[in-house]
Amino acid sequence: MSRLAISGGRPVRDKYLPYGKQWIDEEDIKAVTDTLKSDYLTTGPKVKELEEKIADYVGSKYAVAVSNGTAALHAACFAAGIKEGDEVITTPLTFAASANCILYQGGIPVFADIDPETYNIDVKEVEKKITQKTRAIIPVDYTGQAVDLDPILELAEKYNLIVIEDAAHALGTEYKGKKVGSISHMTEFSLHPVKHITTGEGGVITTDNEEYYKKLMLFRTHGITREKDLLFNKEEGPWYYEQLELGYNYRITDIQCALGISQLNKLDKFIQRRRELVKKYDEYLSQIDGVIIPCEAEYSNSSWHLYVIQIELEKFRVGRKEIFEALKAENIGVNVHYIPVYYHPYYQKLGYKKGICPVAERLYERIITLPLFPRMTDTDLEDVVEAVEKVLTYYRKD
Ligand SMILES: *Cc1c(COP(=O)(O)O)cnc(C)c1O
Repeated sequence: MSRLAISGGRPVRDKYLPYGKQWIDEEDIKAVTDTLKSDYLTTGPKVKELEEKIADYVGSKYAVAVSNGTAALHAACFAAGIKEGDEVITTPLTFAASANCILYQGGIPVFADIDPETYNIDVKEVEKKITQKTRAIIPVDYTGQAVDLDPILELAEKYNLIVIEDAAHALGTEYKGKKVGSISHMTEFSLHPVKHITTGEGGVITTDNEEYYKKLMLFRTHGITREKDLLFNKEEGPWYYEQLELGYNYRITDIQCALGISQLNKLDKFIQRRRELVKKYDEYLSQIDGVIIPCEAEYSNSSWHLYVIQIELEKFRVGRKEIFEALKAENIGVNVHYIPVYYHPYYQKLGYKKGICPVAERLYERIITLPLFPRMTDTDLEDVVEAVEKVLTYYRKD
C-alpha cells in the first residue's frame, strides 16, 4: 500500500486541485473591455440585457440583478414583506446567507430538518414548524438538486406563505422538466465565481409577480424611484425623484453584467460538462466501500454545483477530520458544505440549541465535498478518485 502524503508519502497530485473554479475565456474578457470603453460602467443597458436573458433562460416574467446572491435574498425577504417577529422556515444545511437574510428584516429563522436521502429540507418537518407567525419558507436546492417544490407550494397555499427559493446552487436545474426560477414565488441565484456562471460578485431574483418585481427594483437602489406612476408628487419637474422605502445600494454594474451575458452563452456547455463529471464520479466512487454517493430524486435534473460524498464512518479507524486532512495532503481541494447554520457562534448567541435538526447534524459529521467544475479534466477526476481510494483503503477497518 502506498504511503499517504500526510505521512510523508508522495501525493497523488503534484499540483493542488481546487474544489471549484470559474472558467473565463477571451470572449468574456472582450465583453468586459468593450463595456469599459462604453458610456456606462454601472446601471446601463447590460444590466437590463442580463436580466432579460436570465428571465428568458429560466422562463420567468421578471429578473432583477443585484450586487450579490445575499443581497438578492435580502431583497426577496423585503419584497415578501418579512418584518420584525415574522418566522421564516429554512434548512440548516446551507450557507449562512439563507438564514441571515431573514435576520436582516428582523425576522426569526426557524430551522426544519432535512431529508436523509436528498439532503434537502424535509417537507414534513416544514409543516411541523409552521405557526401563526410563519410568513415564508426559504428552501435551498442543495448541491443543485431541486427541492421537492410541489408539496412546498401546496403548504404555502394552505398556510398563506411565500416561497423564496434559494437556488444559488441550481441555475439550470430542472424540477419535473421545468427550470428552477420559474416555479417558486421568488427564486434567488448567485453569480459568485464558484457558482455556475459568474459576474465576479452578483445575484439575481426571478419572479412572475409584478408587485414583488417593483419592490425588488426599489430596494436595489435606496428605495428611490423616478417612475411617474409611482411618485406621490407627479408635477414637481424632470429632476424629481422620491424615496418611497428604506432600500440599499445593491446595484450591479454594467461591467459585471457584460461578463454575465457572455458567461450565460456558455451555461449549457458548463452544465453538460458538470453532468458528465458527476456520472464518472458516480461510476468510480460507488465501487469504493465506505462511500455513499449523492442520490438524485426522480423529479430533479440537477445542474450540479457540488459533489458531496458521505463517508460511512463505522467502517474506518479514524473520523472525517483525519480523512479530510489526508485528502488535502494528496493535493485534492476537499471542502465541507455546510456547517449547520445554527452551530455558528452568532446563532448560538441568539439561543439556537444544538440537537434541533438531528438528521442534518449527523450528515454534517460525515460529508466531504470533492472538486467539481467544468474545466476539470478526466485526469483530474481520476486523481480525486485515486486519492479517495488510497486514503480510505489505508484507514479502513480490517
Ligand atoms: C453562494 C450562496 C449564497 C450567497 O451568494 P453570494 O453571491 O455569495 O452572496 C446564498 N445561498 C447559498 C446556498 C449559497 O451557496
